[in-house]
Amino acid sequence: MLNNYRLEAPALHWGPDGVPRSNEFDDVYFDKEAGLEESKYVFLQHNDLEQRFRTLKAGQTFSIAETGFGTGLNFLCALQLFNQVAPQNAKLHFVSVEKFPLDKTALKKALESWHSLRSESAALIKDYPELCAGLHHMDFIGDNVSLSLYFGEASKGFSSLNGKIDAWFLDGFAPSKNPEMWSDELFSQIQRLSYNKTSFATFTAAGIVRRGLKSHGFNVQKVKGFGHKREMAIGHFIENKSTAVESKKPWFHIRSDIKNQPLVEKPLPKKALIVGAGIAGATTARALAEQGIEVQVWESSDRIASGASGNIQGMLYPKLANQDTPANRYYLASYLYANRYYHHYQKRDTNPDSKDIWWSQCGLQQEPKNSQESDKLTQILEKQLYPDDIVKRGAEKGLFLPLSGWIKPAEACHCLLSHDRIHISLNRPLKKLHKENKTEPTFEAFDTNNSEKFDYVVICTANNHDMLDQWLPLQTKAIRGQVTHAPLEALKPAFPESTFDQSLSFDSVICGQGYVSPQLSKHLNFGATYDLKNNDSLVREEDHIKNLEKLSHLINIDPKKVDISKLTGRAALRCTVPDYCPIIGPVMDKNYLTSAFAPLSKNAKWETEDNTEFVEGLFVNIGHGSRGLVSAPLSARYLTSLIIGQIAPIEQTCVDALHPSRFTVRALKRGDL
Ligand code: SAM
Repeated sequence: MLNNYRLEAPALHWGPDGVPRSNEFDDVYFDKEAGLEESKYVFLQHNDLEQRFRTLKAGQTFSIAETGFGTGLNFLCALQLFNQVAPQNAKLHFVSVEKFPLDKTALKKALESWHSLRSESAALIKDYPELCAGLHHMDFIGDNVSLSLYFGEASKGFSSLNGKIDAWFLDGFAPSKNPEMWSDELFSQIQRLSYNKTSFATFTAAGIVRRGLKSHGFNVQKVKGFGHKREMAIGHFIENKSTAVESKKPWFHIRSDIKNQPLVEKPLPKKALIVGAGIAGATTARALAEQGIEVQVWESSDRIASGASGNIQGMLYPKLANQDTPANRYYLASYLYANRYYHHYQKRDTNPDSKDIWWSQCGLQQEPKNSQESDKLTQILEKQLYPDDIVKRGAEKGLFLPLSGWIKPAEACHCLLSHDRIHISLNRPLKKLHKENKTEPTFEAFDTNNSEKFDYVVICTANNHDMLDQWLPLQTKAIRGQVTHAPLEALKPAFPESTFDQSLSFDSVICGQGYVSPQLSKHLNFGATYDLKNNDSLVREEDHIKNLEKLSHLINIDPKKVDISKLTGRAALRCTVPDYCPIIGPVMDKNYLTSAFAPLSKNAKWETEDNTEFVEGLFVNIGHGSRGLVSAPLSARYLTSLIIGQIAPIEQTCVDALHPSRFTVRALKRGDL
C-alpha cells in the first residue's frame, strides 16, 4: 500500500554530449547521435504508424501505450508524426508509465538535444506533471492529442487502465539491467489491453521479453535492430479467444461495446444533450465539443451557472487526505488536471492584458478546522506525503497549496460554453426522457412544449435528477450554503485600530472553518454556511452573522462591529453524496442490477465474468458538493472518454468510487434489496 504520493527524481549523470544516464540502471535514456532516428525506426516504423495514422477516420482515436516514459522522446516522435499525417479530427491517446520520472528541469535539459521537436517539446514541458504518484492526464487541446502518464510501477499502471491499445512501445532499460519490470504481471496486463489489431515493437530481442509476449497471445518476430544493433522484436496480438477484458465486477463496467468493438473503430456520436449549465454541465459540454461533437445544453433557469456555480468567487480547494484512498487519488488527479485546465482556457479565451481574469492562482492557506484535522495536516507535513510543489508548510499548523487559488465560477462557465459546437437553450427544463431503443444510444428528450432526439444524454443537474428515477433513483442531499459579499467600507469598523490595510493585504485564499478570498473589486467574499434545514435561496442576515464569525477566525476582525446592512450575498444548494464522492459514469437500470447480480446479497465477494447491461447512451455527472471546481474538469474528460471510446483518463479504483451503480451494489451486499 502506497503511503506517499511524493516521488524523488532519479539520480542522473549527464555526459558531455548532454545525454542523461541513469545511475540506478547504468544505462542511457537515448543515444545522442541517433536517438531520434532510433525511436522512429524501432517504434514508429515497426508499428506501421504512418500508414495506420493516415487511414484513421475522422473522430477515431488511436491508442499507444509505452513502458518507460523517460524523456518523452518516443511520445514526441509519435505526436509529430501524427500531426503530420493523420486526418483532421482523428485523435491520438498516448499512455505511458514511469516509475522514476525525471523532474521538469532534467526533462527540459534532455529535450534540448532535439531541435526538430522544439514545438512538441515545449508543449510537453509546459504541462509535464508534478512528481506525484498516480495517473496524470494531459490534453494538448487543439492538437487532438492526449497523454495519460502513470507515475509508478509499469504493471500497476496498466492494471489501472480500462480500454484497448492499438500499438505498444515496449521501451525500457535493457532487460539484463532491469529484469523486474519485465514481469509476468506486466505481460498479463499487456495481454488484457490488447485485441486482434494490436501490434508491438521493442528495441530488445531478449529472451525474457520474447517469451513473455509469446506466452501472452502475441506472435513474435525478430528483425534487424537499429544501426549497429543486431536484432529487435516486433509482432501482433493473435489470441482470439476472449481474454479477461474488464474486471469480474460487471456492475462497475463503463462500456458495453469493448468486447466486440475495439475503441479505434467506434464511430463518433452525432448529437449530445447536456442537461444543466453549471460547472459540471459547462465542462462536460466543452470536453465533448473539443472532441468534435455537436452539443446542446438545456438549462431550466434563465441563466448560465444559476445554482452553486454562480457564486462571485469560488476556490480550488482539494482537501487532500493523509491516506491513499480511491477518493483521494481522484481528487488529487482532478486537482492537478483542473489547474492546467483553467490556465489553458483562461489564456486561450481572455485577453492577457485584460485585468478581467476569472482564475487567479494565488495559492491557498489551509488552516486546521479542529484538533482532528490538525493531526491530519501535521501528518501530511511530517511524512512529506506530497511533493513540495503541491503541498508546503503554511502558517502555524497549516498547509500552503501553491497551485490553488480562486475562480469566478460563473465567468468560467460562460467562457467554457463559448464554442461553435455548443448551443445553449435557457429556460428549457428537461421534463421527460424517453429511451427509443434499448441497445442503441437514442433518446427523445421532452421540454415543456417540444421534444428532440439525441444519441447521448448527460445529466448534470445537481439535486434535480428525477428524470433518472425510471432507471436508477439516486439519493443526494441538498445542503444550502450562503456566501457573504462585503464592501471593504462595511468591514472597516471591525478591524482593530489602524490595522485595516495591513489585515487586508493577504494575497492567498485562506480556508479553515470557513474561507475568505483576497479582496476583489473592493469587496471581500467569504463563507459559507452549511444549512440542512432550509432549501431556499433567500439571503439571510443570520447567515451573514455566521459567516462573519467564521471570518473572525481567519482574519483579525471583531464580527460584531461590521455594518450588516451593507452586506450582500448569495445562497445556493450544494449537491452532496453520503460517501463524499460525486456520481459520475454510465447508468444501469436498478431492477436489472438487482436481478442480474442478486447473488451479491448472499455473498458480498461474489464475482462473475458475465457482462452487464447499460441504459445505452445515458450518463450522469452530479454530486460535486462544494468541490466542483476541483472535480468537474477531469470528470467531464472522463465521461467524454466513455462517449467517444477512449481509454479512461482516471484509474480503475476511481472509476469504481464514482460509479452510479455503487449505491445499489452496496445495498445488495448489505441484503437491503
Ligand atoms: N521511452 C523513453 C524516452 O522516449 O525517452 C526512454 C525510456 S528509458 C530507456 C527507460 C525508462 O523506463 C526509464 O525512464 C526508467 O525510469 C523506466 N523504468 C524502469 N523500470 C521501470 C518500472 N519497473 N516501471 C516503470 N518504468 C520503469
